[in-house]
Amino acid sequence: MTSFKPTCSGRITRAVGTLALLSLLCEPSPADEYRVTIESSDLRLARVEAELFPTTDGELLLLRDAEDSGIEDGWARFIHDLEVRDADGEPVVVRSVEQGRYEVGDARGPLEIRYLMRLGHDRVDNLPGADELAWARPDAVLWSGRALFFEGAPAKDILVSFALPDGWRATTPWRVLVSGQQFRADDNDALLDSAFIAGEHFEALLGEGSDAAVRIALAGPEAIGQKDLIVDTVERYLDVFARLFGAPAEGRMLLVAADAGFWGGGVMGSTISMVLGGALDASTLPMLRFITVHEAFHLWNANFAYRDLEAQEGLYWMSEGTASYYTMRSQLGAGEIPVEAAFRQLADEVEKYLAASGELSMVAGGRTKLTNYDLIYSGGFLASMALDVAIRVRSEDRHSLDAVMRSLHSGPGRETDLDLASLGDLIESTTGVSVDDLIDCCVENPGQLPLVEMFGDLGLVLTIGTGSVGVDSDPDAGTDATARWTGWPLS
Ligand SMILES: [Zn+2]
Repeated sequence: MTSFKPTCSGRITRAVGTLALLSLLCEPSPADEYRVTIESSDLRLARVEAELFPTTDGELLLLRDAEDSGIEDGWARFIHDLEVRDADGEPVVVRSVEQGRYEVGDARGPLEIRYLMRLGHDRVDNLPGADELAWARPDAVLWSGRALFFEGAPAKDILVSFALPDGWRATTPWRVLVSGQQFRADDNDALLDSAFIAGEHFEALLGEGSDAAVRIALAGPEAIGQKDLIVDTVERYLDVFARLFGAPAEGRMLLVAADAGFWGGGVMGSTISMVLGGALDASTLPMLRFITVHEAFHLWNANFAYRDLEAQEGLYWMSEGTASYYTMRSQLGAGEIPVEAAFRQLADEVEKYLAASGELSMVAGGRTKLTNYDLIYSGGFLASMALDVAIRVRSEDRHSLDAVMRSLHSGPGRETDLDLASLGDLIESTTGVSVDDLIDCCVENPGQLPLVEMFGDLGLVLTIGTGSVGVDSDPDAGTDATARWTGWPLS
């Protein structure tokens, strides 16, 4: 284990080999530090040495989002050999008061913390999926910050260093100090809400230099085999969505795609994590493309100014729904999917929505999150579409949901405490029309979206038969409806 040494800042830190690095460590601002060691003999074991201050309540926390993980005992389930010492190197007695919450008595810090974390999150039942927690391959591991790092008092400019097996490097969304090895996370949120990959993965940087705004890491032969497709797709849709939202996605971001035995995708702060569950061929490549674009969209809509967690959960249908809705519109606009594929997907969304809806509202469904997948994802898709079409029809095609998205990201909507009620108000102030009736009936309450009418307003015909749903263009549609469909793809 690396030894700890006092430095000029009066805090404890580690000796490093170069003067340049030493001067970085001697910056006067108090900043937490973490060092992660992974050895080739056991890739699923991470040794963490950290230096941080406890919270004002005298606690060290390992519980961010743990309750939502569905994992019994949360992240604390995987910790071993926790040791805490004070600034004089004396052992501190730690009392576990509940899972993930540890009291350190009067010790005020800086505290030196050492522990082992066993990567087993992908081997137990969990709700978000291992793509959003942690996974391991023979040549790489992914850790979410929240599953690995203790949190103390709020900190800024957090130093994160890696000691990894030969040939490995770390790719993170944080500021690069030493490429592949050492980074600075802006604050506790940046550290805990993101993820990093360590391994022999392929790395691509979009933008300038090693501190590029977008970093792409691909692990495993299937993911690396599609590197051109993934890099090109991300590059293209970041532009498409920047035009939609009126501004580029904020901050540095990391996209990880890896073969890890299951299909999944999710966003953790500024990290997009995708997992490919099998061989990529004609039948699965469209799914990879779709997930890539959907997740890229979240880089904008995950940052909307939700009033609080409850409001965010109540709008979960919108964050997932608009991500998929705009993915389809933009893929159609890019000519990446033919119209027939769009019709099949629309029919599929309707079929899933019809099977999942009727009892629970989308707002209530969002509060129990991932257990109502089809209601939230397919229902959210169709609700987003219904709002868009209603805005177009009621504003005589002067406005669409696009203006609302733009407002939420870079307009007045950014200042809104976003919840379901303020969303309705914002739509009205942005577009001049009210869609409160739709929100009330079919989002806040379990009423069925006016699907047939909505497709008709787009110049399409929806047929719902026993066991089959079909979508096609309507040769008898009026010119307004036909023009709406022609203008529907996003480019
Ligand atoms: Zn999503």
